[in-house]
Amino acid sequence: MISVGLVMLQGARHDHISSLNEASRDLGLEIEIIEIRKLSELTSTDPDAIVIPGGESTTMRKTGQDKSSMLIPGMFDWIRDNPSKPVLGTCAGAILLADPQDGNPPLVEAQIDRNAYGPQYESFQATVRSSLLGREFPGIFIRAPKFISSENEVCATMGKEIVGVKNGRVIALTFHPELSSDKGFHRWLLESVCGE
Ligand code: GLN
Repeated sequence: MISVGLVMLQGARHDHISSLNEASRDLGLEIEIIEIRKLSELTSTDPDAIVIPGGESTTMRKTGQDKSSMLIPGMFDWIRDNPSKPVLGTCAGAILLADPQDGNPPLVEAQIDRNAYGPQYESFQATVRSSLLGREFPGIFIRAPKFISSENEVCATMGKEIVGVKNGRVIALTFHPELSSDKGFHRWLLESVCGE
């Protein structure tokens, strides 16, 4: 049984639940999804993997009651202390992963610009090429941020643009894989727990 911690502060959470369930069925793996709203829920359940959904990063920081940079105080330290556990951060989740935190380097070392494609109506779908999946992926970009540069491995591109960055087992995507019918990134998360 694989346990996945889903950060439930705000934003696109429920589609991640369906995507994780579908990916687990595809892989024939049993999973348990644990909703994480505070640090104690993370430390007491010690999930095997983490998903940080998209939404609105400014609101997420406030919801987590730390207006400086951490959506759940202590959560990023927990991630840093558990480098073998895969993490999938999407859109606003990617923005938070690229934030420097209290003197620590960010969990993904990349420069990211919020709302870089313009307002909500500039949202779009485009083909992404992912070296992580070894194939193309339908990327859904909703008021998406843009990676300007990355010191970490680039794991997804759209044309010449960086749309996915990977640091160890932490991946940050500027699009919403939970909204595509392709569950490749959710499968990657579960497969990574199994050591692949
Ligand atoms: N524009 C949002 C932000 O800056 C991110 C959008 C999303 O997660 N779909 O936080």
